[in-house]
Amino acid sequence: MNRNSNPLVLVFVLLIAAQCLSGPAFSQGPSAITAELVTIDGIKYPVPEPWQGHKMVGPSWLSVPPLVPVPRKHVENSGAVYLLPAARDAFVAMAEKAKLDGINLIIDSAYRSAHYQRKVYQRQTKAGKTFAQVARYVAPPGYSEHMLGLAMDFSPSDWRFAKTPAYGWLKQHAAQFGFRETYPESRPDHQPWEPSHWRYIGGKEQKVQIPH
Ligand SMILES: [Zn+2]
Repeated sequence: MNRNSNPLVLVFVLLIAAQCLSGPAFSQGPSAITAELVTIDGIKYPVPEPWQGHKMVGPSWLSVPPLVPVPRKHVENSGAVYLLPAARDAFVAMAEKAKLDGINLIIDSAYRSAHYQRKVYQRQTKAGKTFAQVARYVAPPGYSEHMLGLAMDFSPSDWRFAKTPAYGWLKQHAAQFGFRETYPESRPDHQPWEPSHWRYIGGKEQKVQIPH
């Protein structure tokens, strides 16, 4: 028998040929990872950095987590904002301790649905901004921690918060109550710094259950 007709070589050649012909199975290498897309007004946009890969695992579009109101004395303009019970209770305990230290913790915004986030994009793209321009400052729908019912923005909800005594107090004490600044000044993935944005993570023993 001729060496080239070794049945094993033949099987190998046939396998390679089959893979080449089968196309999709062969093309799904690392370069063909499905792009993350967000649909706004029927148009699909690829999710840009730094949001890409940070989609929130949490409530679906249609489900609303079992939220509870934050006491209005802790809310900007005595408005209505909502958190999950564990986050609300931990926040109230933290705000009471802060008060003893002469610090007033005022929430500007807490739970926001993915639907709300989509509305922000619709409004801003209608006003002439590109999707990428909006995404520089606003998390795309499905990418905001606010949809989890665990995150809050303190007032003033922008970079000025970093200059307030409340920010300094939180840096020192928030961890004791299970809160963390989730978009700090320097992050390896270059998420924008949001000093006013804090998220309830929970204590060491307790894991926060995110309802679906
Ligand atoms: Zn925020």
